[in-house]
Amino acid sequence: MSYIIAEDLTKHYGSGDVAVAAVAGISFQIEEGEFIGIMGESGSGKSTLLGMMGAMNAPTSGRFVVDEIDIYTLGQEQRADFRREFLGFIFQSFHLVPYLTVIENVMLPLAVVKAGKKEKREMAEEALRQVGLKDKAHRLPSQISGGENERVAIARAIVNEPPVLLADEPTGNLDTKTSREIMELLKRFNRKGMTIVMVTHSPECAGFAQRILRVCDGLLVGDNSNVRSLDQWQRKERQKEPLPDQNQAVALGSLPTG
Ligand code: ADP
Ligand code: MG
Repeated sequence: MSYIIAEDLTKHYGSGDVAVAAVAGISFQIEEGEFIGIMGESGSGKSTLLGMMGAMNAPTSGRFVVDEIDIYTLGQEQRADFRREFLGFIFQSFHLVPYLTVIENVMLPLAVVKAGKKEKREMAEEALRQVGLKDKAHRLPSQISGGENERVAIARAIVNEPPVLLADEPTGNLDTKTSREIMELLKRFNRKGMTIVMVTHSPECAGFAQRILRVCDGLLVGDNSNVRSLDQWQRKERQKEPLPDQNQAVALGSLPTG
């Protein structure tokens, strides 16, 4: 049995004339340790699909199973437990709390974890070390760069070491160099065994995934192992160096994010 199974998932918003089938019947299976990219035009249903995978958005019909747990048969509380134990999220916008410091933001998911304050702080410090931000733990989000904000969001997503990481356009607002750093970070987590599902508009970022699910109008229109070589992109990027100043760099995710 596959680690993750989506079985004919649908999600309809609204009803009657204004009903939208954001996801119109999608099935796939994901094995433990895979790095999956989800691609598709704006409005094609990627975020809706990711929300259903994140146990946050109940499907209109269909089944979603992780590690033999049928997620939407669980009660609200059990589903919250599942989310806490199994999933890390990186949202489309960082959602950092502006008046909390970096380390306080990373500690947020630990609020409900049964552990002492010191232990939680150590977990958050370890997560920040993994994303290379331990020395900026006591700054506010406004006092660090966009790429660093993204890394804080990643540290927060992995602080309780979830087996599955879901990311919705994690580099949507970042320049090429920073995007590559973020992708390398995700790749590192993936090598350590984390299953990653990442929505992206960027072919370069998708190059880091092993397999691409293509979504169009709420349907799965492609499911391929990645043919594009990651090395190829990295070589091309290296040739371009020195990279332009961060502010002038052409944003990788300059396409509208939906
Ligand atoms: P994507 O992430 O690929 O841009 P979304 O999953 O956000 O696509 O949206 C898919 C479709 O569902 C779009 O037509 C969008 O307008 C619609 N939609 C998304 N969320 C809602 C919602 N909460 N209520 C109504 N319609 C929604
Ligand atoms: Mg989206």
